[in-house]
Amino acid sequence: MAFTLPELPYAENALEPSIDALTMNIHRTKHHNAYVTNLNKALEGHADLQAMSIDDICRNIATMPDAIKNAVRNNGGGHWNHSMFWKWMAPAGSGGAPSAELAAAITKSCGSMDEFKTKFAAAGVGRFGSGWAWLCKNADGSVAICSTANQDNPLMKGIVDGCGAPILGCDVWEHAYYLKYQNRRPDYLAAWWEVVNWNAVNALYAAK
Ligand code: MN
Repeated sequence: MAFTLPELPYAENALEPSIDALTMNIHRTKHHNAYVTNLNKALEGHADLQAMSIDDICRNIATMPDAIKNAVRNNGGGHWNHSMFWKWMAPAGSGGAPSAELAAAITKSCGSMDEFKTKFAAAGVGRFGSGWAWLCKNADGSVAICSTANQDNPLMKGIVDGCGAPILGCDVWEHAYYLKYQNRRPDYLAAWWEVVNWNAVNALYAAK
């Protein structure tokens, strides 16, 4: 059993003008595909790990064999992060809005929805080099913003600690925006809100 590259739930040009079709194409068919290929390569000969879900692989990175730990961390994280990222976006106008429950949690932790967006963008802009900005749900239902380097994510206990369950993530690697925005990461993050799929975020907030 091997991990496979998921299809997009919309056309490659469906997120324009926030994210252009060429960026979507290269991002999924080259970058994400490389994570899938290299994850499968790293797991060769490890039938027990191949049988796990990508969620469980991320949760158990810290206890993986040393010989494959870094490869699985980078490529397994890359596969989980991007598989979710495609679903965390939707064509502008179709992603709904934060549920009343999620909006209340965001307001409580950040002050207001606008302040949340400012703080989330600051986490993304402030991530030096490559990584992700996250909104996470804590066990008590509160939410918090964090960021991780490279392809790490908040599922990776023992590697990424102090974050809750990830319910929204934004890719701030240059490959996610450079063709359209060049060095202007803040402009990409500002435009990204137009294509956030709040329906998917609401479902994760309600489920976990
Ligand atoms: Mn990416």
